[in-house]
Order: sequence, then C-alpha cells, then structure tokens
Amino acid sequence: MTPCPACETAAVNPITGMYYAGCSGCEMRAARQSPSYHAHMNNLKRTPGSADRRAYVEAVERKEGELIASVIRKDYAAWWEERKAVKA
Ligand SMILES: [Zn+2]
Repeated sequence: MTPCPACETAAVNPITGMYYAGCSGCEMRAARQSPSYHAHMNNLKRTPGSADRRAYVEAVERKEGELIASVIRKDYAAWWEERKAVKA
C-alpha cells in the first residue's frame, strides 16, 4: 500500500495535523493522539495478566470502537517486544 501524502509527511514530521479520511495509517495516527490512548497504554502496561489485558482491550473495543482497540493491541505488542529485547 502506498502511503497517502499525509502519512508521507508524518514520516518526517510526526506532529503533522494532516489526516486523510479512509486511510488506515492516518486513522491509526489520529487514534494515537486521542486523549484516551495514553491512558489505555499505561493501564495495559500495568496489567500483568495476559487474560486481564485481553479483557481490557475487549472492553475498550466495546466502548470506543475497533480502531483504538487495534492500535493499543498493536502498540502494546511492540512495547512488549522491545522490553524483552532489552532484558535479553
Ligand atoms: Zn494516511
């Protein structure tokens, strides 16, 4: 998939306010800038059990939609991989 012009701009300037409707890259970037995103990430990082984390993300999905849920799921997995790499 070719990135849209807003995604290309965001690659060099992450704080760009440009978003294109219907672009999944833009939608994910917008979700990461929503006020609840950081709260959800902090809550997930403080939740030790994987079943509890799954339940948390499912609750987010029901309340706030599939997009934010998939973004925090993805970013938590990336954070976890990074943490594992540091420890090893
Ligand atoms: Zn885009």
